[in-house]
Amino acid sequence: MIKRTLAEIERMAQGEGLNLDYGSILAQGVSIDSRTIIPGQLFVPIVRIDDGHRYVEEALRKGAAASLWQKDHPNPPEGFPVIMVEDMLTALQQLAAAYRRQLPVKVIAVTGSNGKTSTKDMLDAIFRRAYRVYKTQGNLNSQVGVPLTLLDINETDDFAIVEMGMSERGQIQRLSLLARPDAAIITMIGLSHLTQLGSREEIAAAKLEIVAGLKPDGALIINGDEPLLTGCDTIRQQKGGANVIRFGLQAGNTYAAANEKQSDHGISFQINGHPEELELPLLGLHHIGNALAAYAAADFFGLSHEQIAEGLRQVTLTPMRMERVRTRTGYHVINDAWNASPASMEAAIRSLAGLSGYRQKFLVLGDMLELGDREKEYHLEIGRGIPRGGVDYVYTLGKLGKAIAEGAVAASFPAERVRSFDRMESLAEHLMNTAHAASDVILIKGSRGMQMETLIGLLDKY
Ligand code: ATP
Ligand code: MG
Repeated sequence: MIKRTLAEIERMAQGEGLNLDYGSILAQGVSIDSRTIIPGQLFVPIVRIDDGHRYVEEALRKGAAASLWQKDHPNPPEGFPVIMVEDMLTALQQLAAAYRRQLPVKVIAVTGSNGKTSTKDMLDAIFRRAYRVYKTQGNLNSQVGVPLTLLDINETDDFAIVEMGMSERGQIQRLSLLARPDAAIITMIGLSHLTQLGSREEIAAAKLEIVAGLKPDGALIINGDEPLLTGCDTIRQQKGGANVIRFGLQAGNTYAAANEKQSDHGISFQINGHPEELELPLLGLHHIGNALAAYAAADFFGLSHEQIAEGLRQVTLTPMRMERVRTRTGYHVINDAWNASPASMEAAIRSLAGLSGYRQKFLVLGDMLELGDREKEYHLEIGRGIPRGGVDYVYTLGKLGKAIAEGAVAASFPAERVRSFDRMESLAEHLMNTAHAASDVILIKGSRGMQMETLIGLLDKY
């Protein structure tokens, strides 16, 4: 993590006003939360719904080495090291950008509608076999999260894997300019954040902003099965600049998968005709796209096929991504409740349908949020696509979730095996009356706001 004198930090963040007496004090690490501050850290009072300036004094009293302070706020604390800045978010980003420029580390940036965190975890598992690796913690992929990620990289790290998220145009460009990636991955284009962006074309364009900060000799690694990525001007303009590397299931890609399989233990595939199968201990064939992207990046940086294969065999994902859990009461749950969009919903349903070894399979789905005017249609479509053969029961939660149930019944999924609920408690109760803990499996998924994982707690309670 960053370790610099306050005088250096002032310069890097383009701040001013630090009392000269404090210039040689060292700060190590950055925090935006006074509750968890560690002595010696730099405190950065972010202004969001809550104004971090209210907590500056607390942070300093708890031992923060210094704090930034946005000029338009009155009464900065006296008797403590304080660096004045024009705008807090800009200052944090400038500090991160300056720090990144001082680091020899190679940055791999990961964006896309789905699969960023999963791909990040795969890259980490692979690169770790040969290098010192830093990766985005949890899902810290925002305009604040990415600077904090960059500032947490160690001077001795060889690679940093940086997840980049966005909800509107311009954000990925900004993050890319901060991170200066040596390779940039776009996992896929889906429909997440459609409300803000309006169309899939706009979503693709927003992801492609990742080229903004990409090193001229870097690699742009894109999903080659997505015409919105392969056919666009940004890609054509990359000629002569970054290498454009395509991955996907279609044969013409630079990295193409074949022979994809899912068993109850995981997934496997072959790459570019290589006879050996690559295996991942994960559920969901959709993760093969992510694994291809990780493979492409690893190959670009010279890792061997064996190192990559071993890394993929060892991967563990961040929780709530197709995570297998067993409740205390014995239920087998596949917890995919981190988020949901049509593409990831379909992927999860396909994965459940492909599982054998269980007596009955339950699909528990909540609303997919932020889908704009056509939200109901997207839910109906998910319902219509639920395969009768691969799923035994469909339970939904929420208003939009109800449309999934309607779609399923409309496409002649047996109505007596479909139910909609307004409250998770009622859903849990009904589920416990129908499902057998030892022999059945329950997949849960919905948007973050739906907190579908609360079902696990309820299954444990009774
Ligand atoms: P967020 O925008 O919340 O950060 P993310 O892009 O990091 O999401 P993950 O956390 O990796 O994505 O996965 C989110 C959901 O999408 C999970 O349900 C996962 O199984 C599914 N998913 C992952 N990769 C893909 C993919 N390539 N195609 C479709 N669904 C995917
Ligand atoms: Mg993520």
